[in-house]
Amino acid sequence: MPKIKNVCVFCGSNHGYDPTFLEQTNALGQYLARHDHPVVYGGGKEGLMGAIARSTMDAGGEVIGIIPTFLSEMGLAETQITTLLETATMDERKDEMLRQADAFIVLPGGFGTFEEFTTMLSWSQINVHQKPIALFNINHYYDELVAMMVKCCDAGFAPKENLDLFINASSIAEIFDGFANFHHQLPYKYTN
Ligand code: AMP
Repeated sequence: MPKIKNVCVFCGSNHGYDPTFLEQTNALGQYLARHDHPVVYGGGKEGLMGAIARSTMDAGGEVIGIIPTFLSEMGLAETQITTLLETATMDERKDEMLRQADAFIVLPGGFGTFEEFTTMLSWSQINVHQKPIALFNINHYYDELVAMMVKCCDAGFAPKENLDLFINASSIAEIFDGFANFHHQLPYKYTN
């Protein structure tokens, strides 16, 4: 596994109701700053997005925000970060996040976060990238999503081995253990 420097964090632009989501987001930001992992994220100031940026900055870390111009023009960007990049579209933003990241962490979030997770996972599955992806499954938030992915494999839409393309982690330690042991391996997908 190549050395992981930049870590891209996907997360909700809301806080969610469970206070543990915010607590663990702040803990992750502090951990990433202390371990010298620059954070790549969507550049927003709201919700857990703003929290990951501010907790990393406050702990002396580096934050690269990548936001489409239309969201920035709505006043949604966090400007107190190391670098704020604007892109023309959401898709260009995701391409740039992939380019800058060595690994991905997915915190609790909504439809936007699901989309970012499944984009990076589906791109991994077709070898567009080989980077590790961790679902930070705080308080079992993602259990039903993981169950749906197991069902998808059981139903013949993906090989079971492709479940190993992401790490289902319930703590920061599990995320980084998973990264350290990650090997990108693809079985042949089209057997049925
Ligand atoms: P959601 O999980 O639905 O809140 O969406 C979060 C994801 O969608 C973020 O990672 C962003 O890519 C994008 N997004 C949604 N709302 C915002 C916002 N207010 N500021 C920046 N990005 C946003």
